[in-house]
Amino acid sequence: NLQDKLDRAFKVLKGQGSITEINVAETMKEIRKALLDADVNYKTAKSFTDEVKEKALGANVLTAVSPGQLLTKIMNDELAALMGGEVTELDLKTNPTIILIAGLNGAGKTTFTGKLANFLKNKGKKPLLVAGDVYRPAAVDQLQILGEQIGVPVYANTASKDPVGIALEGIAEGKKQQNNVIIIDTAGRLAIDEQMMDEIAAVKESTKPHEILFVVDAMTGQDAVNTAKAFNDRLDFTGVVLTKLDGDTRGGAALSIKSVVNKPIKFIGTGEKMEALDVFYPERMASRILGMGDVVSLVERAQQQFDEKEAAELQKKIRKNKFDFNDFYNQIQQIKKMGNMKDLMGMIPGVGKMMKNVDIEDDAFKNVEAIIQSMTKYERENPDSIQQSRRLRIAKGSGNKIEEVTKLIKQFEDMRKVMKQFSNPAAAARMMKNMP
Ligand code: GDP
Ligand code: MG
Repeated sequence: NLQDKLDRAFKVLKGQGSITEINVAETMKEIRKALLDADVNYKTAKSFTDEVKEKALGANVLTAVSPGQLLTKIMNDELAALMGGEVTELDLKTNPTIILIAGLNGAGKTTFTGKLANFLKNKGKKPLLVAGDVYRPAAVDQLQILGEQIGVPVYANTASKDPVGIALEGIAEGKKQQNNVIIIDTAGRLAIDEQMMDEIAAVKESTKPHEILFVVDAMTGQDAVNTAKAFNDRLDFTGVVLTKLDGDTRGGAALSIKSVVNKPIKFIGTGEKMEALDVFYPERMASRILGMGDVVSLVERAQQQFDEKEAAELQKKIRKNKFDFNDFYNQIQQIKKMGNMKDLMGMIPGVGKMMKNVDIEDDAFKNVEAIIQSMTKYERENPDSIQQSRRLRIAKGSGNKIEEVTKLIKQFEDMRKVMKQFSNPAAAARMMKNMP
């Protein structure tokens, strides 16, 4: 694990007052090994450590920072620079913007196609998806299901086996329906399969896309780099999408891909859900590679989900002590929308490492939801009304013991109390004062 190795490398420097050539050289050797293990290719790793070494030796050691901290900072900056430095946004100027998706089988193209449409829709765009995978019958269904889920139309023509024709039909349809972004999903293909590569080159030729996004599974390591090179040689794509960067912090592929094909990474996929998409921020990825956790992404994702207006409504309800089981249930849905709990917790500094061996159920709220669903409308709105006989019925209905129901109601009441206190500034101040 890169982080463990970095930790060990930094230990070499800990407790030492200055950065000397000897300990930097030693540390860099460790770091180079760690980078190689994280799928960064040799050339990249070597030039990276040389660069960091030079900077570290040239830096004035401030007394406030330890050599380890200083080195971390330098590494962070250098890693970010290596990955492009700045955010590279999609080029969406043309109307309609045509985006072609390419990559291997199972890389996550279709999933990303849905995620991107969802992302752009949330930004006020009007996307159309085109089902261009003519080889797997289920591929069209998959895209249609995603489209329905996110409320974005999908163009498909199951009678045709011609990807170029379908793409052009899709674009015509999009123009007719006044869609301003048209995203073309394609079949997975191997770079060594000449015929398949000719085919996607032909789709490119006839559709003249403004963006060609190469989707690649980050978990495939060095293979991802080789595939990226082969696809880029043929398609000259405009950007990279790294998928399956959930939980696991391996960002090595991001480093190598950028340095080998010199194309920006534009997005990362962090889960199977439609919301599990992040814009690629080199700086954050650098921190993530160094194991600092990606707090900014976490906060942003949370903000996106919790609509401000809704929050204000909720505040009002809490103040009037009207927060009920319906609100509670809605809150759980919000949290679930943010993605897998384990992914989310993995983004918190320090927690990521701890979580590796902890098994959190994907659906940690299943029981709670079942209990709330077994309540009547009246009960949800009037939690105080739920006495013994009602608890028994709810327990039976939801397949739980009555103790579970009682526990949930008790927790709910406690939560309500705390929430109420915090919504009243005077009470909150009183509580703070009483804290030890
Ligand atoms: P395609 O063959 O390139 O179209 O790949 P799909 O979009 O069908 O994805 C293949 C599998 O990878 C599916 O099971 C997806 O749910 C899963 N997948 C896609 N993106 C991600 C991701 O970012 N994280 C995780 N964990 N799974 C993903
Ligand atoms: Mg697909």
